[in-house]
Amino acid sequence: MTQKTHFAPQSLLAQGSPCLQQHDINEKQSLIPPVYNSTTYLRDEDNQYRSGRVYSRADNPTYKAPETLIATLEEAADARIFSSGMAAATAVFLALKPGDHVIAPTIMYWALRNWLRTFGQDFGLHVRFIDTHVDGAVEAALAEHPARLVWLETPGNPLWTVSDIAAIAQSCKKHDALLAVDSTVATPLLTRPLSLGADLVMHSATKYLNGHSDVISGALATTEDSAFWQRIVALRAQNGCVPGPDDAAQLLRGMRTLHLRVRESCESALWLAEQLQENPHVAEVLYPGLPSFAGHEIAKRQMHNGFGGMLSIRLKGGAEQAIKTAARTRLWKRATSLGGVESLIEHRASIEGEGTPVPDDLLRLSVGIEYREDLLRDLEQAFQS
Ligand SMILES: *Cc1c(COP(=O)(O)O)cnc(C)c1O
Repeated sequence: MTQKTHFAPQSLLAQGSPCLQQHDINEKQSLIPPVYNSTTYLRDEDNQYRSGRVYSRADNPTYKAPETLIATLEEAADARIFSSGMAAATAVFLALKPGDHVIAPTIMYWALRNWLRTFGQDFGLHVRFIDTHVDGAVEAALAEHPARLVWLETPGNPLWTVSDIAAIAQSCKKHDALLAVDSTVATPLLTRPLSLGADLVMHSATKYLNGHSDVISGALATTEDSAFWQRIVALRAQNGCVPGPDDAAQLLRGMRTLHLRVRESCESALWLAEQLQENPHVAEVLYPGLPSFAGHEIAKRQMHNGFGGMLSIRLKGGAEQAIKTAARTRLWKRATSLGGVESLIEHRASIEGEGTPVPDDLLRLSVGIEYREDLLRDLEQAFQS
C-alpha cells in the first residue's frame, strides 16, 4: 500500500494523497476523492467480487486515500482506519489470545489503561504496567517473564514521558515480542516508530490527524503484512469498528493541513514551555523539548521537527490553584481531548479519577494554532486573578 515517492510529507499531505496519479482512487478525475456512502457492492455476473469489496462493515473505497497517506507517512506496508483510537488500540489486544502476556506503560492514555485493567484482563490477558521510559526497564521485564506484545506510548499522556523506541525494539526482537506504539502525540511527522523497529503504530486520528475536533477516528499501520496483521484486519471487519465514509473523508480533509498545524503547535508549545518555566506560579513544566526534562535526550534522538504540541504544568498553589486557573482562562477552552486547532486546558486528575498516577496540581495543555502571545497572556491572567 505504501507508495514509493520522492515527494516530502508536506507535499503528500497538501495533495491529500500520495497517488499523484489519482486514477486508482478516482476514475472520474474530480480533484477531491468522492465519498462512497454505499453499504454494499455489486457482484459480477459470474458471481465473483472482482472489486474486492462486498460489504462496508469490512471496507469502503473512501478509506483508501487516508489509509494510503498514513501508510506512506509511516513508511508502513499497510494501514487501516478505525471508528476511534480506542477501536484501533483494542483491535491489537483482541487479536492476541487469552493467556498472552502484555507489557504496557504506567504513564499512558487513561482510557486504554482502564480497558486493559478491566476488559483486557477479563478477556484473559496478563498485563504488566511498567515504567517503559526508564532505561532498561522493558529489557528487565522481558527477561523476567516473556510477553507476546509490548505497548508503548511516547510521549506518554499526560506527563510526556519519553520511551526509547529503538532500544526497546531491540529488546522485543531479542525476546520475540511484538512492539506496538501509540504515536498519537508525536504524529507521523515527528516520529516514525516503524523505522525505529516497531511492528505496529497506532494513532487516535481524532487528535492531530483530523485536527479539527469534529471526527472520532483511529488508525493502525504495520511494518509487514503478517498473519497477526491479517487477524487485526479480520477483526475490524467482523467487529465492524469502521468509521463512517463521511468521517473518513473529513479525516482526509483535516490531514491535508497536518504539517502546518503541527509545526505551529510545536513552535508555540516550546515557546510557552520556556516562558512558563520562568513563571512564579509554576512549580514545574513537563515538556520533552526542555533540556531540563528527563526524557529530553531520547526525544532529541527520536523526534524530528519538534517536540509536540502537548505540555503540562504543575502549579505551586496545588490542586486548588490548578482548578481555579482552568476555570479562569478565556482563550484556552476547558475540555478533554487534544491535537485540535483550538487550545485546550484540562485538570487531568479530575477526569482520570482514583488510582491515577497524575498529580492533582497538574494542568494539561494542548497547544492549538492561536497567536501564542495571547495564549501566554491568558494563562498569566488566569494564574493571578
Ligand atoms: C485520544 C487518545 C486515544 C484514544 O483515541 P479515541 O479516538 O478518543 O478513541 C488513545 N491514545 C492517545 C494518546 C489519545 O490521546
